[in-house]
Amino acid sequence: MPTYAYRAVDPGKSCDRCCQGFEMIQKITESAMTKCPHCKNPVSRILFAPAVVIKGGPMTETDRKIKEYEKEGKWSHAAELADKEAEKTKRKDLKTRALEDYKKAGYNFDKYDTDK
Ligand SMILES: [Zn+2]
Repeated sequence: MPTYAYRAVDPGKSCDRCCQGFEMIQKITESAMTKCPHCKNPVSRILFAPAVVIKGGPMTETDRKIKEYEKEGKWSHAAELADKEAEKTKRKDLKTRALEDYKKAGYNFDKYDTDK
């Protein structure tokens, strides 16, 4: 679950905790908090970089394995694994990744397509 940071909208009225800013672990589907849980004064959510990383889906054991293969230059291994996982989880990002890895492994899908 992602961590969100909140900070007091009006530091003059709010408690120490929200003036400094605090973090909350929330589900991505949960709506943003509007009030500090301590002093009930308005807070606003601060967006920060790590939230962007979550976009492609959570990092799984398989993701790590694929990354490892990619790092070692084992493109066909990475592609096969990503392809299999994409079928299983219906994740589009993995399907794209599998295609990219296949290309790096030397497969040329564009060529096959035009040859048909
Ligand atoms: Zn507060």
